[in-house]
Amino acid sequence: MCTLLSHLRPKRNDRFPSWRSLFFYRCTDEISFAPLKSQGVDSRLNYIREKAVAAAPPPCSPKSIYVLANLLEIFSLREEAFANIKTKTTLDNVVGEVFSWVAAGQKQIMRMQCDLLVADLKNPKTMALVKKNLEHISEGSSSHCAGAVDLMLQKAFESKKQSKGVKLRCAYRHCWLRENPVSYSSVGSRTLCLHCEDEYMECVGCGRRRDGDYSSCQGCRKMFI
Ligand SMILES: [Zn+2]
Ligand SMILES: [Zn+2]
Repeated sequence: MCTLLSHLRPKRNDRFPSWRSLFFYRCTDEISFAPLKSQGVDSRLNYIREKAVAAAPPPCSPKSIYVLANLLEIFSLREEAFANIKTKTTLDNVVGEVFSWVAAGQKQIMRMQCDLLVADLKNPKTMALVKKNLEHISEGSSSHCAGAVDLMLQKAFESKKQSKGVKLRCAYRHCWLRENPVSYSSVGSRTLCLHCEDEYMECVGCGRRRDGDYSSCQGCRKMFI
């Protein structure tokens, strides 16, 4: 069966048939996204009960609608679903979400979740959950998570590099030291460019000029290294 049909076909015990919501959306421009499963079964069920009114748009899963809207190229709806998933992804459920099948197939969702997760990796609770999921992957039962792990590692390395500090470059666009940033140790207390001596040096990270003998950037506050 083609992917589109398999999404549209009502599944057994499907509480949120996506096709029904899509039809409603096409007629009324209204959509009603239910909580994610990872936010708790109770809150999901309560939401359905609340929305069980004939005139209200039928509740649907924002993740299913995201996938479907992507396939059907209804980009405004896809972005609406994405924004909804984003507000529902918190530090309490992000680990389960990032290792899910939907994230594995949808790069935009995976990137958003990895950003959130990597920013919180120092939290022991988050780290323990990630570790548990990584164990499943190494046992071979969750090979679809490989993409998420790869992206997480990349982002973790990037953020580590960034948090360590920033180099300095010349603020003059045509100076050689613009493209070849130098370390703080070689600049020392001098504020003008070592090469052209015409311009101030600036932070490679945020572009703020270093117009005084500072050891960290006055804009982004990172240490010069
Ligand atoms: Zn220069
Ligand atoms: Zn800076």
